[in-house]
Amino acid sequence: MPTTPTVPYLPFARPTLTAHMAEAVSETLLSHWIASGPQVQAFESALSQYHGSRPTRVFTSATAALEVALQVCGIGATAGGSADDEVITSAMTFFSVGNMIEKSAARTVFVDCDLVTRNIDLDQVERAITPRTRAIVPTHFGGLPCDMDRLGQIAARHKLRVIEDAALAIGSSWHGRRIGAFGDIATFSFHPNKNMTTIEGGAAIFADEAEARRAEVLRFHGIVKQADGTRDVAVAGGKFNLSDVSARLGLTQLPHLDNWCELRRQRVADYMELLSLHADALGLMLPAAANPGEPDGHSWNMFCILLPLASMTISRKQFMDEMARRQIGTGLSYEAMHLTTLFRGKGHHEGEFPNAERIGRETVTLPLFPTMSRADVERVAGAVVDILRAAC
Ligand SMILES: *Cc1c(COP(=O)(O)O)cnc(C)c1O
Repeated sequence: MPTTPTVPYLPFARPTLTAHMAEAVSETLLSHWIASGPQVQAFESALSQYHGSRPTRVFTSATAALEVALQVCGIGATAGGSADDEVITSAMTFFSVGNMIEKSAARTVFVDCDLVTRNIDLDQVERAITPRTRAIVPTHFGGLPCDMDRLGQIAARHKLRVIEDAALAIGSSWHGRRIGAFGDIATFSFHPNKNMTTIEGGAAIFADEAEARRAEVLRFHGIVKQADGTRDVAVAGGKFNLSDVSARLGLTQLPHLDNWCELRRQRVADYMELLSLHADALGLMLPAAANPGEPDGHSWNMFCILLPLASMTISRKQFMDEMARRQIGTGLSYEAMHLTTLFRGKGHHEGEFPNAERIGRETVTLPLFPTMSRADVERVAGAVVDILRAAC
């Protein structure tokens, strides 16, 4: 049978893993100390150092870090707060945010996002604040920081906690300061699709050492050791401690992070160059470049375009299938969260948050990872333009 030459499959995200990293992980594995131990401590120190020596704890995921952060802040009926506690977040973020607010038994209060930056709309945040508001959970969408100056002012004026969902923003900065190196609490993810990985894993960075210590207790059953060597539990904790094997992988990844972010920015510059030539003619919306005056403040975890669905003869699903047929993976970040069955069940509906809803319908994430070449970007951009030209 004749063989058909095929181009290699290009996933929409791919972690960078090397033989050196595999050796380090294998060394930790064969040390037989594989659950939480010295590697977790070393990884926490390294992350802390990267973020201006702030108190840092690692978890099994960013979702776990957020769950514990809400608990540390005493928000929601499960954490000694009230079922009337309100937490403001964007309708355009990953499900874990709404899920953890609901699990804390507080009320999720959604506001819309900006259509271009896709970050939470701070005017709407101010209007949504009530005497019951306890916290704001903003997501740095795709790694693009929210306006941290204004967010800090709003929080200070109303005495609110801010838990930044910085899952995609490790390596990002605002006015030259790294996300996580200032502010209240920031949570990060080390899932394989993020800018660095521990397979699964996450971290929370605190302003306050006492809160970090409470988080450390809450991530491991709520156990505290007593003077007589026995253990006690005063507050019900969870089981969110990272393994040493994962922490060792994180330790080998972190030194590469800044370089990987730079490579991402180079590929984004390629996308911008190649797609902006056609964007207007095709009705394609490209993501916001970066915050003004700060091109290197964006860690570029994702490159998300909006399709011109209204003028297309095919659906988004058909567009994504056509990309897959050309061996190009795509993602979808995110569905509008207030339209999930969970939140429809609490009275939410279409028409509430037009920007989040439009992004939810039209967004497609294109491949972006540090080991991509300019030729890869040319192949993706060429496919996008080809498919849309045929379908508009
Ligand atoms: C991935 C992601 C999370 C969750 O991270 P996990 O480590 O998988 O729990 C939260 N928020 C955003 C914006 C994400 O992209």
